[in-house]
Amino acid sequence: MDAMRQRSLHQTAVEQFQRAADLVGIEDRYRAILSHPKNEVIVNFPVQMDDGTWRIFRGYRIQHNNVLGPYKGGLRFHPDVNLDEVKALAAWMTFKCALVGLPLGGAKGGVTIDPSEHSEAEMQRIVRRFTHALGTNIGPEHDIPAPDVGTNSQMMDWLMDTFANLSGPASRHLVKGVVTGKSVLCGGSVGREEATGQGVLYTLRHWCGETGQRLDQLSVAVQGFGNVGGHFSRLANEAGCRVVVVSDHTGTVSSEKGLDIDALWDWAQDHGGIAGFADSAYGIGAEDVLTDELFTTPVDVFVPAALENQITAARAHVLQCRLVLEAANGPTTPEGETILESRGIEVVPDVLANAGGVIVSYFEWLQNKSSRAWSAEDVDSRLRSILWQASDSIVATRAELGCTRREAAYAVALRRLQAVYDRRDIFP
Ligand code: GLU
Repeated sequence: MDAMRQRSLHQTAVEQFQRAADLVGIEDRYRAILSHPKNEVIVNFPVQMDDGTWRIFRGYRIQHNNVLGPYKGGLRFHPDVNLDEVKALAAWMTFKCALVGLPLGGAKGGVTIDPSEHSEAEMQRIVRRFTHALGTNIGPEHDIPAPDVGTNSQMMDWLMDTFANLSGPASRHLVKGVVTGKSVLCGGSVGREEATGQGVLYTLRHWCGETGQRLDQLSVAVQGFGNVGGHFSRLANEAGCRVVVVSDHTGTVSSEKGLDIDALWDWAQDHGGIAGFADSAYGIGAEDVLTDELFTTPVDVFVPAALENQITAARAHVLQCRLVLEAANGPTTPEGETILESRGIEVVPDVLANAGGVIVSYFEWLQNKSSRAWSAEDVDSRLRSILWQASDSIVATRAELGCTRREAAYAVALRRLQAVYDRRDIFP
């Protein structure tokens, strides 16, 4: 068994930033601050089920750092959500926002729950009661949640509506920006739904430019076919990439010639996953394969777009790719990363690759503040330019420090954080 399974995820997050902090000489007091979340909010709240019984749910909101701006980060609804995981995810948000230059801090939250066990009515009551339990710990100028694994725009709409109803009539519309990732109807931004996948593709384009490759000649394997993996696969396929193997929690499908991603996407929307696609009339050329083949199929780019700790040492040994493009948060274990490095497999780190989501969340928040709606072209071109600049700064920092892309990404983020702390100093 991989040693990583016992290691704390938060400890991994701390070790990642400490390595870069050594390279750029970050002061000890800032390292100490960034090694702990500022606030850890845990709530236990009762919700009535459809059959009349009551259940207590445990929810978290971890506020890691707000020196650059209000706390920002998603809400995860998954059976494995726990304090250690949410602490790590919150820290990653701080470094992600700092890396791409957003005036936002880092946070993350979640509920330990299996969403597939609940009806829509139960889910609405759970979201509303969780929002109520969080109370004034969230707010449009204080801490702004968003979707993550297991949550969606409908849940963000309920969260916003609950918060607005708790805020009193005069500020009903002022508080729209309490959450991002809402539906466009309720004040969401065009482009937010696909923003993370779109951002992953922009960072792949940048890597192609940097390393002299053609995007339309790349073959790709994708782990996860939800909001991130699904949209990324669609957009990569449109851009000419050959997506040869895709997996989700229901199965793994492959086609050497490249999967019909649009058909697979429609199938997954209708059936709750990719299982059954290969045997259907739509799955021409596709075959069901064992999960292991996701990792062993030779491809140019491997895209983990599911949960953390997927690229373990064992899997890093068998991967047959040139690049790992981290669409998920924390998909590579430290042991896995060492092996990738020794095998010459490059890694575009999560804090860059999946930053498209929080960047367009920031755009949504700005639109809510000014009661405006930007065009799709505006959203897209601004997203691209922010990711391009961040990618350029990683390339420059890597050349300066002679380090990995992940270390360079953290170095850029830490320098920004340190510069602001130096000016503001630590109160009192
Ligand atoms: N959950 C996403 C992430 O991990 C988006 C966060 C946000 O938009 O605030 O980056």
